[in-house]
Amino acid sequence: MDSNKQMAELLFKNITKTPEDYEKLYPERNLEEGAVVTRFAPSPTGFLHFGGLFAAFVEKTAARSTNGIFYLRIEDTDKKREVENGVSLIVKGFDDFGIEIDEGMLSETEEKGAYGPYTQSKRTEIYQAFVKSLVEKGLAYPCFMSEEELSEIREKQESEKLLPGVYGEFAKYRNITVEEAEKRIKNGDEYVVRLMSPGKEDGKIKFKDGIKGEIEMPENILDVVLLKKDGTPTYHFAHAVDDHLMRTTHVIRGDEWISSVPIHLQLFYLCGFKPPKYVHISPIMKEENGGKRKLSKRKDPEAAVSFYSEAGYPKGAVWEYLMTLANSNYEDWRIANPDADINEFKFTFSKMSKAGALFDIVKLADVSKNYISKLSAEEVYDMVTDWAEENNTRLYKLLCDDEEYAKTIFAIERGNAKPRKDIAKWSDVEDYVSYFYSELWDRKRDFADNLSNEDIIEIIEKYMDIYDENASADDWFPQVRDLAVTLGYAKAPKEYKKNPDDYKGHVGDVAGVIRVAVTGRRNTPDLYEILQTLGREEVMKRFNETIDELRR
Ligand code: GLU
Repeated sequence: MDSNKQMAELLFKNITKTPEDYEKLYPERNLEEGAVVTRFAPSPTGFLHFGGLFAAFVEKTAARSTNGIFYLRIEDTDKKREVENGVSLIVKGFDDFGIEIDEGMLSETEEKGAYGPYTQSKRTEIYQAFVKSLVEKGLAYPCFMSEEELSEIREKQESEKLLPGVYGEFAKYRNITVEEAEKRIKNGDEYVVRLMSPGKEDGKIKFKDGIKGEIEMPENILDVVLLKKDGTPTYHFAHAVDDHLMRTTHVIRGDEWISSVPIHLQLFYLCGFKPPKYVHISPIMKEENGGKRKLSKRKDPEAAVSFYSEAGYPKGAVWEYLMTLANSNYEDWRIANPDADINEFKFTFSKMSKAGALFDIVKLADVSKNYISKLSAEEVYDMVTDWAEENNTRLYKLLCDDEEYAKTIFAIERGNAKPRKDIAKWSDVEDYVSYFYSELWDRKRDFADNLSNEDIIEIIEKYMDIYDENASADDWFPQVRDLAVTLGYAKAPKEYKKNPDDYKGHVGDVAGVIRVAVTGRRNTPDLYEILQTLGREEVMKRFNETIDELRR
């Protein structure tokens, strides 16, 4: 047996499967031409944040739009950073925003798909089989350097301004013999397994990033760690093995990983794997004091995805917004195709921002208002009640107590060519519907100040005389106009403007009084529909109440 083989046996006695076995176990995927396989590969270190949601959205969209596969892999090799229920937090985030996976983790323990296990801590034997094979080929070796030795070389490299890490003269155990390794292992010495990097100091690598384009970087010369002291892999090695065996075609991830690409490409090459396409996403940015900075988990509440579900932005609206962040041409497409399904849009990596998409909450609100304006009253009702059940029990109860009434409210100025855009998120609904519910309405009436209390009372009293709840939408306004004229108001604003001294005001002032008496507000959706929804009894009650109040 040659010495490399002996070394491999020494280090991995219990590993009997070979890379070939795994190649057979996880064959090439049988997908149509052009189908891409992507993954979201988080460490279970806490809540899903907006940057993560954005990456997952891009990965999902890329797979979906090519009839490919999108899967969720949990990268839990760093046990120190892990939080309890870390997987559930990610799965819940996906659920909240409708990100469906084709394969991968469904909960802390369940998974689906034929390329698993999808949790790295369950794949130790697989990584070891591949490292064993690298040792056999003389491409990896055990390194027994102690923490002290490592910090010594770090200091030396720092003071001499050298590249930090284990390479060249610093790679003390590159040529360790099997005998010495055996002696040390028997002695209980701890070791890691390092790559024996074939990189040259002046070597260069080139690759084409899906977003950033052609990139040239120095080749990797470091003998990076493949397996840690406890036999678990480093991120670098697990990435190569997993993305190869899970047949990922596009590795889409944050651009903090660009600097590691030379290591990754070298690992793919040495393991005999076809490298994936790399697509590095720039971080989401935010404007602040005239400048830009990264959206921050610590500083920005909107960096937590719970912010969106708690505020009640519908999934579909968040998707719309994510797509506007993802592809700069999406907004124009949406304007040209207002009613098309978002999935008909042709998403491309090349239209993603190199500098980092700019997060803008006002824009999100606009996108969401637009989205909500196109929903049917039934859809709004269902989504609001779903949201309210968890986030606003008072509203939830009111909506459930009289479903028909609630749907009539949501139907006001909806389903027409120019629906109103009052609601940006479900937490706006309580205020939006408040005057329809005595439990919610504060009964404050914000009358315009150009009319006296006497004028207001006169309008209300006279309107009460002619108010006809059976009038059609077309007849209603002419009745108000006639009343306006009778009471000395111009029948149109234009007329009033021409001769303001001839009138007390115009028809808009008269309608305004009715509006404020009934809703408290100067600005509402269609007044006729509001009157119809409230019904005669309630409307008359509100008129009488107003008169009493003004006389007090
Ligand atoms: N586990 C890595 C992280 O949490 C994943 C990077 C990747 O997608 O490859 O950032």
